[in-house]
Amino acid sequence: MNANQIKRVAIVGGTHGNEFIGVYLIKKFARFPNSIERDTFETMTLLANPKAFAARRRYIDRDLNRCFSRQDLANLQLANYEDIQAKAIAQLLGPKENPQVDAIIDLHSTTANMGLTVILPDEHPFNLRLAAYLTTIDPLVKVYCWSQPRQDSSYLRSLCQFGCVIEVGPIAQGTVSATLFQQTERLIHATLDYLDAFNRGQALSIPSEIAIYRGLKTIDYPRDSSGELQAMIHPQLQLKDYQPLNPGEPMLLTFDGETIVYQGRSTVFPVFINEAAYYEKGIAMCLTEKHQVKIIRNS
Ligand SMILES: [Zn+2]
Repeated sequence: MNANQIKRVAIVGGTHGNEFIGVYLIKKFARFPNSIERDTFETMTLLANPKAFAARRRYIDRDLNRCFSRQDLANLQLANYEDIQAKAIAQLLGPKENPQVDAIIDLHSTTANMGLTVILPDEHPFNLRLAAYLTTIDPLVKVYCWSQPRQDSSYLRSLCQFGCVIEVGPIAQGTVSATLFQQTERLIHATLDYLDAFNRGQALSIPSEIAIYRGLKTIDYPRDSSGELQAMIHPQLQLKDYQPLNPGEPMLLTFDGETIVYQGRSTVFPVFINEAAYYEKGIAMCLTEKHQVKIIRNS
């Protein structure tokens, strides 16, 4: 499938109710709708989980950003708040087979030191070109790809094929940061500009290759039989997202002071290190591999 023309774009914030940057950007865009308008497509905004935002929580009953697999969307037995909300959002933006929007920009923040991360749902040339363009807007932009079959993906972004997640940090849950707010806003405008230029057939200047951090697997904290934590992120790894972790280097530290080293065979680049929301998901960090990827230009 190719993107021939982008007709509708959705900017989504507050998929997690305690990630305030996205929420307050959506509220700002509601006050200044002209700022996100572009001549060649329609832009809509969505505050995805208003009840969780009102409660200052990530979610009420279940993580909304894990409710969008095709199977779960079709399962009417799943009827708690977030499952109902996901079905309503899928009605508005989806369905996955024939979405009503052509690109989704989903705004998130993290307690990990991810800086300005663009998360791609796949390495489709269209998405890669968008990410490549965003690296020219801010040299701090990192591109992370966690590929999943779109039908099985439980992420909101999987409702359509194109677009990206903008994930910024480190920032505490339930807070905003002026710097990250403005940097995120700039990336949103750049994304809209890019899509507008695409529709016009204008070639924007993009690099011929970019670094992509491809998700490999997640690592949990050691736990006892009741699930209680037995270790924490090693001080040498804390805040070191996107930096190389070599075999034999410290990864975790037990409460008794014993270092647990990384035992893989090759160098990896951990991200989401010590993300607060992932303790309950059994994730201490996500390991990635760094690859240089060539950018195929529009023909
Ligand atoms: Zn989030």
